[in-house]
Amino acid sequence: MLIVQKYGGSSVGTVERIKAVAKRIAKTASDRSVVVVVSAMGKTTDGLVKLASEITPNPCRREMDMLLSTGEQVSIALMSMALQELEVPAISLTGAQVGIVTEAQHSRARILHIQTERIEEHLQKGEVVVVAGFQGISQTRYQEITTLGRGGSDTSAVALAVALQAERCEIYTDVPGILTTDPRIVPEAQLMPEITCDEMLELASLGAKVLHPRAVEIARNYGMPLVVLSSWSDAPGTRVVSSTPPRRAWQDLELTKPVDAVEYDTNQAGISLLRVPDRPGVAAKLFAGIAVQNIDVDLIIQSIHQSNTNDIAFTVGKATLKQAKAVADAILPALGKNSDPTLGDPEVKAEERQIAKVSIIGAGMIGRPRVAAKMFETLAAAGVNLLMISTSEVKVSCVIDAADCELAVDSLCQVFDVGLADVSSNFSKSIMEEVPPPVRAVALDVNQARLAVRQVPVRPRMAAKIFSLLAQLNISVDMIIQSPRCHSLDGILTRDIALTVSQADGETAYQTLANAAVYLGWGEVVLESSIAKVSVVGTGMIAHPGVAAQMFEALAENQINILMIATSEIKISCVVAEADGVKALQALHEVFGLSGSDKIQIPA
Ligand code: ADP
Ligand code: ASP
Ligand code: MG
Repeated sequence: MLIVQKYGGSSVGTVERIKAVAKRIAKTASDRSVVVVVSAMGKTTDGLVKLASEITPNPCRREMDMLLSTGEQVSIALMSMALQELEVPAISLTGAQVGIVTEAQHSRARILHIQTERIEEHLQKGEVVVVAGFQGISQTRYQEITTLGRGGSDTSAVALAVALQAERCEIYTDVPGILTTDPRIVPEAQLMPEITCDEMLELASLGAKVLHPRAVEIARNYGMPLVVLSSWSDAPGTRVVSSTPPRRAWQDLELTKPVDAVEYDTNQAGISLLRVPDRPGVAAKLFAGIAVQNIDVDLIIQSIHQSNTNDIAFTVGKATLKQAKAVADAILPALGKNSDPTLGDPEVKAEERQIAKVSIIGAGMIGRPRVAAKMFETLAAAGVNLLMISTSEVKVSCVIDAADCELAVDSLCQVFDVGLADVSSNFSKSIMEEVPPPVRAVALDVNQARLAVRQVPVRPRMAAKIFSLLAQLNISVDMIIQSPRCHSLDGILTRDIALTVSQADGETAYQTLANAAVYLGWGEVVLESSIAKVSVVGTGMIAHPGVAAQMFEALAENQINILMIATSEIKISCVVAEADGVKALQALHEVFGLSGSDKIQIPA
């Protein structure tokens, strides 16, 4: 019986901690084989990044990998010594010594495969093998040291567990497991004994850094049991469970097909509320009215505003279109008139066209912006116009003309070499013993920047163009929203497109799009870095209309203005001003009843 245990930076932050962890490992190793993965001690990696930045603002990625990989080499050696001191036979190995083979992409390499022979030899001799997390070796002629991306030790551990066919993978950290939110911001956060991989993937990519999303992806793809727990206590922690049966080949561990399936829904109808005043409470009022009628809202997007007005667009089931429109019409008088008469007044527009939603689904899209770009390019090449777009780490959906649906689905299935999704297996509704509450956890991401591209001509290829330009630089677009409102500019119909990227990519993304704007005839590009994204996540929201309304109401009650909204089946994200981020997170945690009476203590 083999267990893989990973200890994060804080768990091995001091010599005392290393000794304490060694004792823990010794206990486990008394009756089974153990492979240990460790991170660099404490904030070592941050310190190394800082050293580099004192020499150059743009360090070469190869040298960064040489530098950052040293942190883990220190901790494996010390951990191995600590075990030997307890008379537990142990040996430390770097990623290269193990043969953790990755692609040759410095600073964000994906694992291709892991050679297990050497580890197995040591295990057979009864040794505990202590492996450096976060690093690998490329397959190229000069085998180069690579790293997997910040937080990547989790991914090393799960990948090793899969390659060694371990019984389970345990991730030890400084909190008791996965909580309803970051306890550093909300100390009343509560432990979740269980979370689905789908929920965890969303949370991890929406700002909850407790697990590296790629680790969750591997666990899900290969059905590896994964537990997150505290290295300070013996509490059972959180199990990350999956409903999807494992079905992967054992080579190219992280390079399996990025897309699992294509999905479509033709039972949708679209409504927009145009030119609504930019003040807290409008979205809340609209969706509260809709929730009262028990109407299920699918996608919601709210675009950026030019001259202080917003556009909100959403989709509902066809049968409820009239009802939803009536709700929207009813709130119009309360919105009043716009102070600037040239803008026109608020207006409700039901989409006259028949529409359909097509989506690509797959955890393999994480950190691979080229996948979404390829979807948009494929649709553009087929002449399909995109009416709405909604993105999440594991799903990209486009609302299109229903007449284009078959063509869109066929092209996407062909390009990604997949079939249509079995819609029933879509989200793991039934693996929880009890009916889950609509919202299970909330997350805050303050490392995002918003870009607005004004006056983009309304024609196919525009979203594709933006995504491809950024994907070439490996920049992931997080949210993207096209305004449903078109302006006529010199006889050409144009609209605004807003998107968010990580703050680190903000300046490069801005430069790229600003250059493109010049030769493609787009309008101004605007970069805004002082934003935050708050999100609520839960598979239970599929069956609960009204979650969006509750979220928007809570924000409005706290006088927080919503700048952008994007939804997928199991998450709703709002972009707000950075200064409102923490307050927004705390308000949402409270309103969805996630706070407990005990405060989470984080070891100093
Ligand atoms: P490690 O060094 O063990 O890898 P990390 O710092 O990467 O630890 O991740 C653990 C931290 O993640 C916690 O200390 C906590 O502040 C943060 N965190 C953010 N969101 C959550 C959440 N939903 N549940 C638990 N921890 C969270
Ligand atoms: N030491 C690396 C980092 O700080 C990897 C990890 O801790 O997971 O990003
Ligand atoms: Mg971590």
